[in-house]
Amino acid sequence: MSDDETATAAAWAELIDTARRTAAEGLVVGTSGNVSVRVGELILVTPTGVPYDRLGPADTVAVDLDGSQVLGTLRPTSEVPMHLAVYRSTDARAVVHTHAVHATAVSTLVTELPLIHYMAAALGGPVRVAPYALYGSEELAGNMLRALDGRTACLLQNHGTVAHGTSLAQAYDRTAQLEWMCRVWLTAAALPGRTPSLLTRGQLDEVGEKLRGYGQP
Ligand code: 13P
Ligand code: ZN
Repeated sequence: MSDDETATAAAWAELIDTARRTAAEGLVVGTSGNVSVRVGELILVTPTGVPYDRLGPADTVAVDLDGSQVLGTLRPTSEVPMHLAVYRSTDARAVVHTHAVHATAVSTLVTELPLIHYMAAALGGPVRVAPYALYGSEELAGNMLRALDGRTACLLQNHGTVAHGTSLAQAYDRTAQLEWMCRVWLTAAALPGRTPSLLTRGQLDEVGEKLRGYGQP
């Protein structure tokens, strides 16, 4: 195997693990959602409509930045336009799309997730909801890109989540944080006669600054 082939095989194995994790941790049901990872000019993507536990090393699917299939025989995810839109306009290396329950519920209620928790700063600021458009459409990809401006995650109205990162682990973690934050807001907002307190933009910006130094040196 060449170095490129070795890198592609490793990325595909990680992509399968991530896609399986979305199902195992309840962020999707069945073949909903999709995952991609960039290796140089190759975009590895989950195939459309195939249960993730059936995917193995021989099922590698890849498209180029123009959307032409360059590896594999299984058809790529229907959401190739969304994934490519992210790679064309950011330095992301991975994208995770899910239909997580609380995030999807929130996407039907508001145009932006209220500032219920400081972790919004870890996603670049208040999380926007991209207006509804047909799954797999260029229109949806365009709506998503506008909602992602300055952010690493957004909600898709009546559909789900999209998050990107410099690795599959980071894109997955951002997805899980977003779903968790949506759950917190729904839980707090559901109490009859009570309205949750929210953070100000100033408080969120302060967190954004501090998070730059978060974790181990
Ligand atoms: P695919 O099976 O084509 O990836 O579609 C799932 C999905 O979530 C579409 O939005
Ligand atoms: Zn979807």
